Amino acid sequence: MDRIDFRSDTVSWPTPAMREAMARARVGDDVYGEDPTVNELEALAAARVGKEAGLFVASGTMGNLAAVLAHAGRGDEAILGEDSHVFCWEAGGMAALGGVMPHPLPTDAIGRMDPGQVEDAVRWDDPHVARSRLVLVENSYGAKHGYPLPPEYLASIESVARRYGLALHMDGARLFNSAVAQNIDAAALAGYVDSVTFCLSKGLCAPVGSVLCGSADFIHHARRARKILGGGMRQAGILAAAGIVALNEMIERLADDHAHARLLAEGLARLPGARVDADMVRTNMVFFSLADDVTLSSAEVTDRLRQTANVWLGTNGSRGFRAVTHYWITADDVRVLLDGLENVLAQG
Ligand SMILES: *Cc1c(COP(=O)(O)O)cnc(C)c1O
Repeated sequence: MDRIDFRSDTVSWPTPAMREAMARARVGDDVYGEDPTVNELEALAAARVGKEAGLFVASGTMGNLAAVLAHAGRGDEAILGEDSHVFCWEAGGMAALGGVMPHPLPTDAIGRMDPGQVEDAVRWDDPHVARSRLVLVENSYGAKHGYPLPPEYLASIESVARRYGLALHMDGARLFNSAVAQNIDAAALAGYVDSVTFCLSKGLCAPVGSVLCGSADFIHHARRARKILGGGMRQAGILAAAGIVALNEMIERLADDHAHARLLAEGLARLPGARVDADMVRTNMVFFSLADDVTLSSAEVTDRLRQTANVWLGTNGSRGFRAVTHYWITADDVRVLLDGLENVLAQG
C-alpha cells in the first residue's frame, strides 16, 4: 500500500492471490444462477458458518437489509442495540425501504443487550402495537472496540427469541475476527442465530462483497430481497473468486492482526500523552484518546501524523482515535505509528 492506513480494515487491498483468482475466474449470469464461481463461494461460505445456503451480496449493509426484509415486513419491529451498526450506520434502511420499525436497546461495555430487557421489549398481541418479529445481534461489536461476543451471550438472546417466536439475525461483519479471537469455530457462533452476514471486504481483504447465510428457505426469500435492492449482479464470479481466496487463506491469519493490535495497545499504554484501555483490545481495533494535558485535538494529531509519517488514523470525537489493523499493517508499521505519535505529542 502507498501509505500506512489504520483508518479501517475496509481499506485493505486484495492480495496478489486474489487478483490472480479474479483474472482466472469462470463466470456466468448469476441472476440466472449460472455463475459457477458465485455458486462455489455461496456453498463454501454456508459450510464455513454451518448454514444450508449462502447469498453473495454487494456489501454488509445490503446483506443485513436483505436479511431484515426476508425476516420481517411493514409494521414489524426489530430489537437491536442502540449503538449497533445496523441502527446507526446503515442509513435507516430497514425503516426507509422495509417499513420495519427499529426498537433500540442499550448495550453494556462490550456490546451486550440485557436479555431481560430484550424480553421486556417484546410486544404483546394487541392491535395498538407493532409486531415484534426480529432480534439483531452484532459480533464482533464495532462500537465497543470490536469486542468479540461470547457464545453464552448469544445463547441467552437465542433463548428469548425462541420463547417468543422471533427470528434472530447476526451482523457478523467481523464474525471471523470474533471466532479467531475466542478460538471458537465461526459455525459454533452462528449456530445460535437463524441468519448471519459477514464481510469478505474487511479483514479478509477481498475487494468487494459480503455473504448472507441461513436456511435454504430463508435464502430463497433473501434472494428476492437482494433483487429488489438492485443487488442482482451478472458475471459476479470475478468478485466471488476473491471471496473464495478470502475464506480459504485469510481467516486463520486474522490472529496476526489481533497480535498487532495488542502490540499497538501496549505501546500506547507506555506513551504519557495517550490513554488506552488495553483490556478491551481483543480483535483488530484499538480505541484510544489523548491525555488531559495534551492541548492538540485528535484532528490536529491525525493531520500531523499524515504529514510527518504518512500514517493515516481515524478520529473518534475531538479527543479520541480508532486504529484498525489488517493484512497490510505490519509490526513495523505499528512502530512507525507509535514513534510518529510520540514525536507529534512531543512537539505539542
Ligand atoms: C462494515 C460493517 C457493516 C457494513 O458493511 P459494508 O460492507 O460497509 O456495508 C455492518 N456491520 C458492521 C458491524 C460493520 O463493521
